[in-house]
Amino acid sequence: EAKAQGQGRFSHFHRELQEEASHRSRMAMELRHALVEKQFRLYYQPIVALDSGEVLKAEALLRWEHPRLGLIGGGDFIPVAEQAGSIHAIGQWVFEEAANQVARWDRAGCPPIQLGINRSPVEFRRPDNALDAWTTQLAQLGLCGSRFVVEITEGLLVEQTPVVRGQLEQLGRIGSGLALDDFGTGYSSLSYLRKFDVDFLKIDRSFVQGLAPGSEDLALCEAMIVMAEKLGIKVIAEGIETEQQRDLLAAAGCHFGQGYWFGRPMPAEAFTRRLLQGKGVVSA
Ligand code: C2E
Ligand code: MG
Ligand code: MG
Ligand code: MG
Repeated sequence: EAKAQGQGRFSHFHRELQEEASHRSRMAMELRHALVEKQFRLYYQPIVALDSGEVLKAEALLRWEHPRLGLIGGGDFIPVAEQAGSIHAIGQWVFEEAANQVARWDRAGCPPIQLGINRSPVEFRRPDNALDAWTTQLAQLGLCGSRFVVEITEGLLVEQTPVVRGQLEQLGRIGSGLALDDFGTGYSSLSYLRKFDVDFLKIDRSFVQGLAPGSEDLALCEAMIVMAEKLGIKVIAEGIETEQQRDLLAAAGCHFGQGYWFGRPMPAEAFTRRLLQGKGVVSA
């Protein structure tokens, strides 16, 4: 009987795997049309200076207005896009859209925010002229590269291939900043921090979630902040959802915060209103 049960569980597991695989391949196919069908949206989440409460930065986060599934977040389709290769065209669209939006905010008289753009390792590994095209576009819009921060994960710096290195150097020449996303969750070898010009560490949300006075997570956040400070790197804490988390991080000397406490990712128009309405923390 135990054996029969085991087989049942196996075939159940097997069926789930098959369903997952067919879900992914269907999605990969749909992704091919998503760009021409104009189904992608960029949402913007405020990044706040913890001392003044001012919105000085934002992160651009990709959403897919899926005809069947509704609005879905990056985590649910970017891995598929990476595997299917459509991430290159999508990433190109993200950079273009982000640059156009920053130019629109400038024209609307908004304070000059700096915008974080996520770029996946897959995009960095392909030797192409994606960054050349972007540079040309920035020049056409009259925007400095320094208005943007490219968010990468630690793993990319560990790779150290010439193609990746070349693109990181190109970003440096444009004047764009570099942020290490999800910091603390990946490689714990920190020697790459010496070799690359990193401007921001984004403390991963998993450290912020459990923040309480005297907690291990607080000790870890404090250690990351002290280390960054000594290296001349600014710290952004991700996933701040409560006032206590905000207060503990501010007291630890963390420079910037991002999370639902300050605002969820929102469409450009809503973010424009937020920017024009000025300083101040508007939560919920
Ligand atoms: P990420 O870059 O670490 O982005 C932060 C994620 O945390 C976002 O999820 C954001 O909505 C979510 N978040 C922000 N504040 C809070 C909070 O207080 N609590 C909780 N629970 N979550 C919070 P999202 O938008 O689903 O994006 C997931 C991931 O997809 C991103 O993680 C990033 O790695 C990737 N991604 C998003 N947009 C792009 C893009 O344009 N290009 C590429 N290559 N990747 C992207
Ligand atoms: Mg990010
Ligand atoms: Mg720099
Ligand atoms: Mg992150």
